Amino acid sequence: MASVRTAITPMKVAQIPKPGEDFEIVERDIPKPAQGEIRIKVQACGICHSDVLVKEGIWSGIQYPRVPGHEVVGLVDETGAGVAGWKIGERVGVGWHGGQDGTCLYCRRGDFRNCRNLKIPGISYDGGYQQYMVAPVEALVPIPESLDSAEAAPLLCAGVTTFNSLRHSGALPGDLVAVQGIGGLGHLGIQYANKFGYKVAGIGRGSGTEALARSLGASVYIDTSAANAAQELQKLGGAQVILATAPNSKAMSELVDGLAPNGKLIVIGATFDPIEVTPIQLILGSRALQGWSTGTPADSEDCLRFSELKDTRAMIETYPLEKAGEAYARMMSGNAKFRVVLTM
Ligand SMILES: [Zn+2]
Ligand SMILES: [Zn+2]
Repeated sequence: MASVRTAITPMKVAQIPKPGEDFEIVERDIPKPAQGEIRIKVQACGICHSDVLVKEGIWSGIQYPRVPGHEVVGLVDETGAGVAGWKIGERVGVGWHGGQDGTCLYCRRGDFRNCRNLKIPGISYDGGYQQYMVAPVEALVPIPESLDSAEAAPLLCAGVTTFNSLRHSGALPGDLVAVQGIGGLGHLGIQYANKFGYKVAGIGRGSGTEALARSLGASVYIDTSAANAAQELQKLGGAQVILATAPNSKAMSELVDGLAPNGKLIVIGATFDPIEVTPIQLILGSRALQGWSTGTPADSEDCLRFSELKDTRAMIETYPLEKAGEAYARMMSGNAKFRVVLTM
């Protein structure tokens, strides 16, 4: 007797089998969303330098095999029990902030960004390097209509990190704001800084990125191979904010003297090397050094809406999911212009 069975199509995922090993493309069953979760049919996922934490096992407690990816855009495909407010087929994103406990002291204060039990896609659970992904509903961000999925993906980490750190930096329109590093983060930082009304100084190494920095909105360009950036900034009165995006602690240390009184060096380029600064450098002029980590899903929503309003886009190179290893290597080479995005 013939029986009718529904075929369960497996999906493709790009996973890291063990810390330090290469990506492998495997098939898995499509996951079911549990209570309070949503399944996303992934369209695009950005490759962020922080994915090195998963690839090399630098972040403690990751369970392997693990699928990285925290710059995810796709369509709501299925909703778990208790999920309201999201429709099947709606385009959504998930960034670094992949869920909070809602109960810790910081959550109770409304400071979800600093949740003690923050969940991170691709670290706490499988991320976006796959065809279907499950995420807690509180991690979702609606994607504005006019943004292309692959272009929107990097805005969910690189975009919101630069957007959110600058908008909370205290710099006012007309202030001098320097962006160190014209790369994955910096090319977005320059655009947001310009569109927030700051006088923007791009700081890069060599003259090769000057034209690009100016086209993105920098009115000043400082080539650190030809000039001392801190002195150049002081000639302009000192920077109210320096957004340090290139993961180079020595280069960041050299910028502290470029700050104006009450100026702030905001660190978003992540490394494990120490930044060197003397107490005197901070005391004279009441300067500050601050780190900044991304934003909540609501911050990402603001970032995406602003990006739509002010025509701000990430410059991307796309690769198919099957070439995740090659795409990751391209990101790590530092030669990508500027964010690498996987498409499904
Ligand atoms: Zn990231
Ligand atoms: Zn919490």
